[in-house]
Amino acid sequence: MKEKELLINGNKSFVLNSKADKETDEALKELVKGQNPSVLIITCSDSRVSPEEIFSLGLGWLFVIRTAGNVINEGELASVEYGIEHLHIKYVLVLGHTHCGAVHAALHNEKGKYLDPILNQIKKNIIDEKDELEASKKNALEEVKFLKEKFPEYDGIFEAGLYDIETRKVCFIK
Ligand SMILES: [Zn+2]
Repeated sequence: MKEKELLINGNKSFVLNSKADKETDEALKELVKGQNPSVLIITCSDSRVSPEEIFSLGLGWLFVIRTAGNVINEGELASVEYGIEHLHIKYVLVLGHTHCGAVHAALHNEKGKYLDPILNQIKKNIIDEKDELEASKKNALEEVKFLKEKFPEYDGIFEAGLYDIETRKVCFIK
């Protein structure tokens, strides 16, 4: 099966490359003791939006939650709680992106078998916004608002951002 082979081979070269690089090998050994990530990121499952890649941060830095449309439902909320209350992360970024398929689907009223909780939440977030880019921004901003409501005692920062898959730049939005 070529998909599984892709993963097996990729992991083999990851292990080999880490071992060949002394500094990386040491850093990875250090991570065995525990994680202490600096940033919590909630972003889309889109394969073009990999936080470790776009922020040039390797293992151990980012506590990442990914769902289509970077929507926060029950399980994601539990993961946020874990990140901020148990791992004591002080900075949370909800990162939307341009050309988001989930936002597009919500804008065009697409239906699926299990997609509704995600699409409905995006619809609720964007209200009557019709522009896809503006809708992606609004969606991320509303998720930030939602987090602030859920964790009113949080003494860190909740912020929204947008990753542009063309320029590869992240902008922080308010
Ligand atoms: Zn997306």
